[in-house]
Amino acid sequence: DSLDVLGILLKCANFAAVKHSGQRRKDPEKTPYINHPIGVAYILTDEGSVRDPAVIMAAILHDTVEDTDTTLDEIKKEFGSNVANIVAEVTDDKSLPYDERKRLQIVHAPTSSKEAKLVKLADKLYNLRDLEKATPEGWSQERVKQYFIWASKVVEGLRGTNRQIENSLDEIFSRHVL
Ligand code: NDP
Ligand code: ZN
Repeated sequence: DSLDVLGILLKCANFAAVKHSGQRRKDPEKTPYINHPIGVAYILTDEGSVRDPAVIMAAILHDTVEDTDTTLDEIKKEFGSNVANIVAEVTDDKSLPYDERKRLQIVHAPTSSKEAKLVKLADKLYNLRDLEKATPEGWSQERVKQYFIWASKVVEGLRGTNRQIENSLDEIFSRHVL
């Protein structure tokens, strides 16, 4: 019932907070990293009207395997294989070179599951809003521009998934990608 959902969502939030503790975002204020996965999940419920608990859970957990010592087995054990499979789909293989990782996001986007597409869309929207607010330290304007262009290519492969979130992304792209 709904109490089980609340409990499991807070288990996710607590798990992600512990795993990301000490990590910071790249904005000049060095915002605590956990603001990002929580914000991505909130975009899905508040703006995307997403109600599938597995998608919200995967959103909260979406950067734990990529950016902390968390393993997919651990996610599976704590939160089940459904959530673990979504997290796996949105996790880059950090053993690959940067350019290859970024290329594979574009290639894999169209064939990913609807659940993974939702998480990816909200993740891109959150990160592009961050970049509109402030440029990360050490980033040239050219690097910011290239990030918007790359993100628009990933989003091309995610379309037809959530009109609200895609509309918000399109508004951003209309400002930044010619
Ligand atoms: P990027 O360096 O491209 O950084 C963008 C990612 O950082 C986002 O996708 C987001 O990922 C995260 N992020 C954290 N804070 C912010 C923020 N305030 N605004 C937007 N995004 C934010 O990706 P990687 O971290 O994958 O790659 C890092 C490596 O790439 C480094 O080794 C870097 O040196 C190298 N690099 C350097 C370039 C240069 O011009 N000097 C160009 C390209 C790569 P998430 O959702 O996962 O948090
Ligand atoms: Zn992310």
